[in-house]
Amino acid sequence: MTKRKPLIAGNWKMYKNIPEAVGTAREMVKLLKEPPNAEVMIAPGCVLLNAVMREIEKSCISLGAQDLFWEKEGAYTGAISASMLVSAGCKYVIIGHSERRQYFAETDRNVNLKIRAAIDSGLVPILCVGETEIQRESEETFSILDKQIQMGLKDFSCDELDKLVVAYEPIWAIGTGKTATSRQAQDVHEYLRNALENTFGNSLAKNIRILYGGSVKPENIAELMAMPDVDGALVGGASLNADTFIRIVSF
Ligand code: PEP
Repeated sequence: MTKRKPLIAGNWKMYKNIPEAVGTAREMVKLLKEPPNAEVMIAPGCVLLNAVMREIEKSCISLGAQDLFWEKEGAYTGAISASMLVSAGCKYVIIGHSERRQYFAETDRNVNLKIRAAIDSGLVPILCVGETEIQRESEETFSILDKQIQMGLKDFSCDELDKLVVAYEPIWAIGTGKTATSRQAQDVHEYLRNALENTFGNSLAKNIRILYGGSVKPENIAELMAMPDVDGALVGGASLNADTFIRIVSF
């Protein structure tokens, strides 16, 4: 089986101001003496991107954004374009995070447009998918994920998706301290890889990185990463502290 290079991505959400973000990024660079086996990315809030970029640019940590708007430019007050993110030094952009879906009414159709904007600008999209606790209990997990994947990736060719990253984030595990067991994560990741194979073919499915997200911490990362279809993690709360995040990265 092809070994995919793991990705450990930190989502800082709406935390930190500029001095705090600079301090955390600087400490991460200092702590990350050896290049790890995984690619590492941090996604601070938009206002923090520039300052954080200056701290990490000579390190092996890449910059990511937490969202973008799909239009190239225009009268869209408050929105951030793909081109703005590229010019700030972003390589990755998180798209369709459950908090965006919940608090900003983001739909699968919006997610599809955002992935298009990211890919057309050369950004690597991290497409987040996941079910609520009620959906899991009523055995709807796979049908929810199918819908999120099929609609989010509608009208893309396999070639366009060659760098896409998918993050499986069960909503019941985000910020709750409840982590999916490594078995639960593996079952869903395997399902997602098969679903991607059915739609986009074997070559894309075997190369695509599928991250797990939901209360990842230094204590559970090794067990999750031991699963054959878990190719990294999207880390929220535990990415806010440099020492904790670097311990996850060095799993
Ligand atoms: C996230 O924000 O994507 C996330 C998984 O958060 P946490 O690690 O805090 O559960």
